[in-house]
Amino acid sequence: MSSETVHTVDGPSGPIPVPSGDLLIGDAWEPSASGDRRENLNPATGAPLSSVAMANPDDVGRAVDAAIDEFDAWRAWPAQRRRDVLLTLARLLDANDADLGVLRSLETGAPLKRKRGSSLAAEWTRYYAGWVDKIEGVTSAPYSSPSLSYTLPEPYGVVAVLTPWNGGIVSSAMKVAPALAAGNCLVLKPAELAPLGPLRFAELCLEAGLPPGVLNVVPGGPDAGAALVSDSRVAKVSFTGGGLTARRIMAAAAANLTPVVLELGGKSADLVFDDADLDLAAVTVIQTALANTSGQGCVLPTRLLVHHAIYDEMASRVTTMANALHVGGPFEDGVQMGPVIDEANCARILAMIDQAEQSGAGTLLTGGRRLEGALANGFFVAPTVFGDVDNESELAQREIFGPVLSMIRFTDEDDAVRIANGSEYGLGGLVFTRDLERALRLSSRLEAGYVGVNAFPPMPPNAPFGGVKQSGFGREGGREGLTEFLRTKNVYIGLPA
Ligand code: NAD
Repeated sequence: MSSETVHTVDGPSGPIPVPSGDLLIGDAWEPSASGDRRENLNPATGAPLSSVAMANPDDVGRAVDAAIDEFDAWRAWPAQRRRDVLLTLARLLDANDADLGVLRSLETGAPLKRKRGSSLAAEWTRYYAGWVDKIEGVTSAPYSSPSLSYTLPEPYGVVAVLTPWNGGIVSSAMKVAPALAAGNCLVLKPAELAPLGPLRFAELCLEAGLPPGVLNVVPGGPDAGAALVSDSRVAKVSFTGGGLTARRIMAAAAANLTPVVLELGGKSADLVFDDADLDLAAVTVIQTALANTSGQGCVLPTRLLVHHAIYDEMASRVTTMANALHVGGPFEDGVQMGPVIDEANCARILAMIDQAEQSGAGTLLTGGRRLEGALANGFFVAPTVFGDVDNESELAQREIFGPVLSMIRFTDEDDAVRIANGSEYGLGGLVFTRDLERALRLSSRLEAGYVGVNAFPPMPPNAPFGGVKQSGFGREGGREGLTEFLRTKNVYIGLPA
């Protein structure tokens, strides 16, 4: 192997290992054929952070070659060996959890979680390790003539996996672990804004004993992604990202009839009724829609729908809490919210806020500006809350992917459902109420891939996750997440009468 992690960067408690930023093709870490590299900045400070190779279409083709070369050997591995590699990987993810957390905070600016336990990426990997020796087919009753008819769940072959910048190593594990459990080889294209986490994940895969060539990684931009999803040798595509890109990917995949899984954006509604625990509802929306990832998540409840009887009370609580958030660098003591990912996104978010104010889409209750002073070199947007937002406005309809919350009043349950479903997206929905019957009714009436009642679901690996409508199709997590990477063959053996 030509290189492993050779670089370090400074974290809050000393240097941590970071990947070289090269491509992983077969058993070699190498620069791109063109020599192109991309420099990324630390979003909290604006200082240079990383330099990563940018794959071109030739590089992508070689990565697919490497995956094809390894497929027959990998699929023939006995189930328990494949399981054990994934279990070793989960142990390595846990063992490196502190450094991986620092790496994520450096790349994305998200506040470092001090209380670390078993990481979510390790949990997803361990969960799918558990499936490897439980993949089963069925035997059908003989039909019209004596026979033995049974199904074989089989891997697709080479799977293309495209992950978003905000998900880091967890996004990699959510796709890579089930694809490997099913016996596929992979080419992973991480998002260009934060590729170090997925590259470090790949290093740990090799350290865990994954044979070289089973997982290849081609950091790059749209060209690399387009080359990958249009390669006719790729048998399945799993993409997480925006709707516009998803349409391009689906069109490219259509040329080869390649099946796709699309995990896309959202504008999830959070319904708070007048019998709700308002403390819980307010803390949950502040932590998820604003603080934890500065609003940069597909599943976040960015439309807060509140019953008119408690609307003013909720608006006052949410505004006070948003104002009190400690915004700063990810390693500051007590920090609750970090920057957004880069200068371009910072400018885009501020322009959307400006447009919302100009068009009268709602009343700006707090925030709406870039943070200056000690934070001026980073990409910090103040936690922003709009009140009395028009659900038809761009503010309520478009995904902002920044710390911007829209509050909307509703009169009764029907009105709440009408507003919640009045969105092209359908990823998630939250309901805060103490009325169990209402919670059950709403769980079925909301057009969404998941519904959380009195809680924000913590992405457990054993539950299917995904959207409806413009939030995409296909699922990650649970049995469904594994099935996405298996196809079914039927075998029919004629028997003597
Ligand atoms: P994006 O769609 O702009 O880019 C995603 C990736 O696609 C990038 O790596 C890019 O290089 C690549 N790409 C661009 N053009 C391509 C093409 N023609 N063919 C193939 N690949 C191409 O998304 P983003 O800005 O990285 O991520 C934010 C979006 O992701 C938001 O909409 C967010 O809601 C969504 N997201 C969804 C989920 C989910 O699970 N549903 C999770 C996280 C993020």
